[in-house]
Amino acid sequence: DNGGVPGRVRVAVRLRPRNSEEMVADMDFADCVELQPELKRLKLRKNNWDCETYQFDEILTETASQKRVYEVVAKPVVESVLEGYNGTVMAYGQTGTGKTFTLGKLGEEDTADRGIMVRAMEDILANVTSVDDSVTVSYLQLYMETVQDLLAPEKDNIAIVEDPKTGDVSVPSATHVELQDQRSFVRLLQAGEANRFAANTKLNTESSRSHAILLVNVRKVVKPKVGDRESPNENGGSPQVGKSNIRAPTIRKSKLLIVDLAGSERVDKSGSEGHTLEEAKSINLSLTALGKCINALAENSPHVPIRDSKLTRMLRDSFGGTARTSLIVTIGPSPRHRGETASTIMFGQRAM
Ligand code: ADP
Ligand code: MG
Repeated sequence: DNGGVPGRVRVAVRLRPRNSEEMVADMDFADCVELQPELKRLKLRKNNWDCETYQFDEILTETASQKRVYEVVAKPVVESVLEGYNGTVMAYGQTGTGKTFTLGKLGEEDTADRGIMVRAMEDILANVTSVDDSVTVSYLQLYMETVQDLLAPEKDNIAIVEDPKTGDVSVPSATHVELQDQRSFVRLLQAGEANRFAANTKLNTESSRSHAILLVNVRKVVKPKVGDRESPNENGGSPQVGKSNIRAPTIRKSKLLIVDLAGSERVDKSGSEGHTLEEAKSINLSLTALGKCINALAENSPHVPIRDSKLTRMLRDSFGGTARTSLIVTIGPSPRHRGETASTIMFGQRAM
């Protein structure tokens, strides 16, 4: 278990239950995967006799609750963000396998359904208590190597800025909303979703072709503890009461990225499914670039090709190094999608 080791990407696989259509259509067929959650293993069926076995950090079965998924996949990342480190949680998988369900579900009808974004913010807000602390949120869509502001749709070409000295990545021109409570966060997500829908309708694109990126900036003022003073002066007299004797509060900044990635299904470059060659290229580009970075981290390679796409440039300071990263690979059970499921599993496997 590498739960405590930053640097490598932690990978969990989550299987979605059969939907009503699959229950009927695939009635006579077994699922394309067999899960062994205790062994953290997954078997991919090749045919009736043969299967391939893969090991992951965590296996989440079709009965795993949203709460458990949060605790296993995201909570360690959120905790380290509250300690001052950057972190990323992302979902990768074919369209329809549960990425948005896992990350973005609001759970307004049933709180048990709440996804990772809502649960993460709940934990963050509960830990940001001083008047000097703050939590700000931006919500972005990355489509065809262009960053759009989902909280201000007129901002449709947001620049990603890297500080050459610190390596910090930011999006200064994006809307940054300072949050006071959980309710305003849910409203913000709803507004972002509505804007995403409108923007995609206007451009005649599908949201499955773009990445949605929630950026949470946490700023905490860390006050020195009582007894945390610098040693008294050498004369042995009582310590001088003055600023020089007491450590000044320090400001700790960290950020959490939650990324609902574009559908991992291979995009047909012929354009026959309604997307252009340019679209196909750019979608494949960012997911391929992400895959290369994950591989490089897994192999401890000194060269992580983070500059190859806007997606990976965005992740630059929240990925590898001291940052903690979790990848949720979502898959469906249908034997008809065995090929796509196999390539999704391989993507996750290359991070191990
Ligand atoms: P994606 O974002 O990967 O395209 P969605 O999250 O939209 O997929 O999920 C597709 C459908 O499957 C939705 O109707 C969603 O509610 C349902 N679904 C996904 N995962 C689960 C799950 N673990 N349990 C129940 N329903 C799920
Ligand atoms: Mg989705």
